[in-house]
Amino acid sequence: MAKRIRLGLVGIGKIARDQHLPALAADDRFELAATASRSPHQVDGVPGHGSIEEMIAAGHDLDAVPLCTPPQGRHQLAAAAIEAGLHVMMEKPPAATLSEVEDLARRAEAKGVVLYTSWHSRAAAGVEPAREWLAGKQVTGLRITWKEDIRRWHPGQEWILGPGGFGVFDPGINALSIATHILPQELFVTEAALRTPENRHAPIAASLKLRTGGADGSFELDFLQTGPQTWDIEVDTDGGTLKLHEGGSKLALPGEEPRAAENREYPNLYAHFAELVAARRSDVDVRPLRLVADAMLVASHERAEAFTF
Ligand code: NAP
Repeated sequence: MAKRIRLGLVGIGKIARDQHLPALAADDRFELAATASRSPHQVDGVPGHGSIEEMIAAGHDLDAVPLCTPPQGRHQLAAAAIEAGLHVMMEKPPAATLSEVEDLARRAEAKGVVLYTSWHSRAAAGVEPAREWLAGKQVTGLRITWKEDIRRWHPGQEWILGPGGFGVFDPGINALSIATHILPQELFVTEAALRTPENRHAPIAASLKLRTGGADGSFELDFLQTGPQTWDIEVDTDGGTLKLHEGGSKLALPGEEPRAAENREYPNLYAHFAELVAARRSDVDVRPLRLVADAMLVASHERAEAFTF
């Protein structure tokens, strides 16, 4: 067997524990050699450090670092890893700004290491078949609805409503990662109405108008949805309407039984990262981040009532 890729996992929070650690435990191409996180509680049996700098200085013969910290501050972490000659996999959104990601891509290329801006929702079961079905079709309408409960999925994550935290676009960027992947033509944001709690900096709800090809679309986002959660994309075409539900995992095509499959988003991301490392090839796609930035550029702003977790 080829040498395992020795990882230093950075940011041991919700997503690292919910998804990265189980995916890594089931993938023998990787070995978790060390962790770095601000909090002292890290991963049993794995050497833990309080910062990426400490982890790198300690050696561990690392090959790569997945970054699972919030987007604010990622640039500095990724730059330190690249400087140390390590491959980097980034949780979505890859950084706080477009300039940061573009700078990291240049640094990775100059250093000859892999940079992977991962978009986990693109690895959901229905997404690739949706892209294949839409290829060559004329899109005539698009409706995206992304509504979830911030208190359920992001308990106590103050950073998410802070400057650079993306607010409701933290989950919403997942919809854009799918849409930019499956639509046969470029996607644009033409209008955005953002609602930001009076005690916060990032929007808690948003209503966007979109355009792709000659078609208009809508994108409704809400971080305060209790009860059933909604992560739906519907695309009208000259061949009927495609429906992707549950964040891309359930696909319904005209005239066919709906398809659902086991959620393997994170195993799929790590499989792709292993291939990128083997081929020494980067995979950097900023389109979802650019659309969020565009929404901020064209936005009108409204104050919403104060929010507490
Ligand atoms: P989280 O629970 O707040 O975890 C982030 C972790 O990063 C915390 O343990 C934090 O330490 C640590 N951290 C922050 N700055 C650090 C630094 N400079 N060096 C080392 N560690 C640092 O957030 P999360 O939900 O896991 O989200 C992290 C990223 O994953 C975000 O980009 C998010 O969009 C993405 N994501 C989240 C979900 C989800 O459902 N939550 C799903 C998919 C993707 P402290 O605890 O000490 O502050």
